[in-house]
Amino acid sequence: MNCPLHIPENAQVLLDYGARKLDAERTETLERHMAICPGCREFAAGQRAMWEALDSWEAAPVSQDFDRKLYQRIEQEVSWWDLLVRPFRPLMVRRGVPVAAAACLLVMAGVLIERPTGSPVPKKDMAQMESVQPEQVEQALDTMEMLSEFSHHVRNDGQESKL
Ligand SMILES: [Zn+2]
Repeated sequence: MNCPLHIPENAQVLLDYGARKLDAERTETLERHMAICPGCREFAAGQRAMWEALDSWEAAPVSQDFDRKLYQRIEQEVSWWDLLVRPFRPLMVRRGVPVAAAACLLVMAGVLIERPTGSPVPKKDMAQMESVQPEQVEQALDTMEMLSEFSHHVRNDGQESKL
C-alpha cells in the first residue's frame, strides 16, 4: 500500500479510518501500513484523540446526574428574595399570607425602619389634616348642596322645555 499521506487521493482512507467507517479489509491494509509508517500512525492517533474528545463532549449534557446536580446547585444558591422574605416566613406559613401581601409587609417594614421616631404617616399629611377647619367643611357641604339643587333645576328645566 502506498502511503495515504503522500497520495492526496488516498488521504480520505485515513479520515475514514478515524471515523471507523472503513471495512475490515481496508482497515487491515491501513493498519499494516501504519505499522511501518510513523507519519500515518501519528495522523491516526490525532484522529482518534479528536473523535474521543467529540464523544466525551457530546456525552456530558446527557449524563444521568446532570439534572440532580443542577437542582442541587439551585437549592444551594439562596436568592435575594429568599433572604428578604425569610424573617416573615413563619408568619406567612402560619397565616397563609400570599406573596403579594408579603411584599406589602416588606414595604411597610421599610417605612417603619426609615421612621423609627415618628409615626408612619408623613408630617406633611398630618399638617394638612389639622389645617382643615370645621367652617371649611361646612362651606364645602353648602357648596355641594347648592350644586345638587342647581343640577336638579337644570334637569327640570330641560324636561319642561321638551314638553
Ligand atoms: Zn503512511
